[in-house]
Amino acid sequence: MTATLINGKAVSEQCLQEVAKQVGERVAKGLRAPGLAVVLVGDDPASAVYVRNKNAACEKVGFRSFSYTLPADTSEEELLNLIDELNHHAEVDGILIQLPLPAHMDSQHILERIRPDKDVDGFHPYNVGRLAVRMPLLRPCTPKGIMMLLNAYDVSVRGKKVVIVGASNIVGRPLALEMMLSGATVTVCHRFTENLPAEIAAADIVAVAVGKAGLVKGEWIKEGAIVIDVGINRLADGSLCGDVEFETAKERALMITPVPGGVGPMTIAGLMENTLQAARHHD
Ligand code: NAP
Repeated sequence: MTATLINGKAVSEQCLQEVAKQVGERVAKGLRAPGLAVVLVGDDPASAVYVRNKNAACEKVGFRSFSYTLPADTSEEELLNLIDELNHHAEVDGILIQLPLPAHMDSQHILERIRPDKDVDGFHPYNVGRLAVRMPLLRPCTPKGIMMLLNAYDVSVRGKKVVIVGASNIVGRPLALEMMLSGATVTVCHRFTENLPAEIAAADIVAVAVGKAGLVKGEWIKEGAIVIDVGINRLADGSLCGDVEFETAKERALMITPVPGGVGPMTIAGLMENTLQAARHHD
């Protein structure tokens, strides 16, 4: 079996077109175009690329984008002051603080300062909590994007055994909540999991978000399983790869997301949808 490649880039494009259409309809009705503020602290090159992509997506869908680049030695207080300003800014519907923040900042403290109704990344404990109690509002973008991607490929997770590798606050944990919300039976693996190959071998759907190239071997994948590779790792030759051994996994899986071009573009689609949702809430 050779897996179908799940084309996140194409699905993301469709989502962006749909958001653009809805923005056009809003503006035609005399409503504001949604506004997204993106804040980058420091000069991490990967973060700068992500921020550029987010600003480009804003332009594509017709959002107003507000971009802030602060030096790496910005104090926590200065960043909190900017967040307070954006929290009160009437044209800003969503606030995104690009992670990782410099080591001298307490990311959790910073993220909690964002007003939950402007937390378009969906990282605020309020929004994660709403997802946990099955009353989602602004949902964490990457897990949301993964659910949109599965939906676009008519994959129902109801009753399926889903194994998630990685338990971070921004991907693994909220993805487990999304999967449960959609009726999956979920196992979350992390660094203390004792027999990762056995857990993966039992999975109908495997989602991996760890950040270690080739951590999951293709031979562990059950024949006919669906593989969602969230990892983004830069190899010595400059190329990108995921956390799953792609070449061997694609010979066993039914469907698989490539890296790049799989989950990554869907995170941006999730972000654009969240910003539109926040703007509607602010109308
Ligand atoms: P993170 O915060 O570093 O979390 C990694 C998780 O993996 C942790 O829960 C950790 O367990 C677990 N882990 C570490 N070693 C493990 C092992 N040997 N076996 C099983 N689990 C292990 O990372 P993240 O922010 O979630 O990101 C993960 C990857 O996804 C990165 O490559 C990142 O670049 C990528 N990413 C991609 C997108 C996208 O849009 N495609 C979005 C976000 C992140 P503990 O909890 O026990 O420490």
